[in-house]
Amino acid sequence: MIYFDNAATSFPKAPGTGKAVCDFLENASVNTNRGAYKMAYDADRLVFDTRTKLARLLGCGDSERVIFTSGVTASLNLFLMGGFFGEGDHIIISSMEHHAVTRPVLQLQKKGVSVSVACAGKNGILRPEEVEKYICSQTKAIIINHASNVCGRIAPIAEIGDIAKKNDLIFAVDSAQSAGVIPVSAEEMGIDFLAFSGHKGLLGPQGIGGFVISERLSKILPPFTLGGTGSLSDSFEMPDFLPDKYEGGTLNLPGIAGLSHSLDFINEIGIENIRQKEIALTDYLLEGLKSIPEARVTGGTEGERLSVISLDFPGRDNSEISFLLDNKSGIMTRVGLHCAPLAHKTLGTFPKGTLRVSFGYFNTFEEVDIFLKALKKLV
Ligand code: PMP
Repeated sequence: MIYFDNAATSFPKAPGTGKAVCDFLENASVNTNRGAYKMAYDADRLVFDTRTKLARLLGCGDSERVIFTSGVTASLNLFLMGGFFGEGDHIIISSMEHHAVTRPVLQLQKKGVSVSVACAGKNGILRPEEVEKYICSQTKAIIINHASNVCGRIAPIAEIGDIAKKNDLIFAVDSAQSAGVIPVSAEEMGIDFLAFSGHKGLLGPQGIGGFVISERLSKILPPFTLGGTGSLSDSFEMPDFLPDKYEGGTLNLPGIAGLSHSLDFINEIGIENIRQKEIALTDYLLEGLKSIPEARVTGGTEGERLSVISLDFPGRDNSEISFLLDNKSGIMTRVGLHCAPLAHKTLGTFPKGTLRVSFGYFNTFEEVDIFLKALKKLV
């Protein structure tokens, strides 16, 4: 079995993550923020420690500004759909966005929010000037996908952060593909809202993620999920302090236990080492693909990227190739539009889509060899 679909969700998870989830469920599964007994304090400590680890990893000076949700989709819905944007506002997104942005944004358009799409090139590279040119007096926010889940291209986040700051705009970033794989720092990159996923590069379980919010945005962004927080229960309003303001309801504590464990693993290995391994695998694959001209690398092979590579086989059905890779050689890839039709339009692969290969820290060069051999045979 060879798993090359880490951009969808990482597998395997960090060693021991499953055990950490089970241990919590079996031995410590009480609620947080609500109980005045020792086990509840232990759960409070787990949540606090995990926030602190995330704050350190994602460049946030204050762990209370790390908010838990189920993932990037839930975080971006909170940001976009909670009433912060209304008629007459203008936002800028990139043409490399995932449906976690484009679907909520369509609903905003229906409510009178105008949207400009800053286009990346056919190689998937987004130039900061392309974003800047759309800024007007109505512009309220810029929302950018840090790294493409289709072709692995990395957006110039720090430069766009400077542009947002210069123009006093809210800057939101989708780090679904980048967190845990390349350095991401909310504060250094001028990010007001950094959505992250626990189950991809952070090597944790599905269903846990969140966002980091800047102090200034936390004062003006309304809460989205209204409910019990275990605090200020005499009031019918949501608390206005963090993290409670955005955390109505019981948190995914087993998910947090797993994520806490996987974050320790990432810190132990080091993001630099994870990145080096993934770059080496990617370079090895791209070199090997030179002997398979039938496979076209979407967005080209030059320049920096994550270990996410999309392939198209002109004149062939990409789904059939993906199916045969799995069926004959046990190699799992992902075919289609990857919930990012706008990115595929940008890259010239819409509506056919591509066959995506995405590596994680645990993939090996031998697996890439097996893939190349199997692909050669198929095409
Ligand atoms: N944005 C991007 C770029 C993604 O790749 C994904 C996952 N496919 C998401 C958002 C959604 O993330 P989550 O599963 O955490 O909701």
